[in-house]
Amino acid sequence: MDNYEQLIAGFERIGTLIRKLLWENSFNVGLNPIQLQILFFCKQQNKRKVYPTKLSEFFGVSLPSLSDSLNSLIKKGLIKKTKDKSVKRISYISLTRKGQKLLKELSNWDAPLKNVLNKIDNEEIKNSYHFLLTFLRELLDIGMMQHLRMCFTCQYLSINQNGEPEYFCNFLESTLKKEQLRIDCPDHLRKE
Ligand code: SF4
Repeated sequence: MDNYEQLIAGFERIGTLIRKLLWENSFNVGLNPIQLQILFFCKQQNKRKVYPTKLSEFFGVSLPSLSDSLNSLIKKGLIKKTKDKSVKRISYISLTRKGQKLLKELSNWDAPLKNVLNKIDNEEIKNSYHFLLTFLRELLDIGMMQHLRMCFTCQYLSINQNGEPEYFCNFLESTLKKEQLRIDCPDHLRKE
């Protein structure tokens, strides 16, 4: 393939569709998409503390730009701030019960996409996923993407390069098939 315009046009269309689904779902519950994504992020962290700096890194926006969204979520009772016991001047945020309940209600926001993916040949999906990982890694390498919590940038990943690469996650203590490599992993520990 030597004409990437069509491929990029495809990415653009998918990005637009995902944004549209996020807009629809967030507006239905009185939020904006970034607020909804903050809630998703907190959920993915499970019991880990979410510091505002972590959020600002993840979303690639400054702390002041995030603070309106955080304050609004706190006002709506969907997240709460808690002072860190070890470093008193720092607070972390977490979902409230109300926030967890809301996310449960919204858990099918991406169902239309998953339904379509279910119709496509699984091998084709695995290959596409591998391509996506490679593409994202290249974008990271040249600095066009930042702070992806993907396996390729994680201290826990070991790669055996004899022939077909074999992947092992030292955190999960498990081998990873190439289609199990993660793009956004809450256990990610960035390589120095
Ligand atoms: S901790 Fe997560 S990101 Fe790191 S290697 Fe394991 S699965 Fe990949």
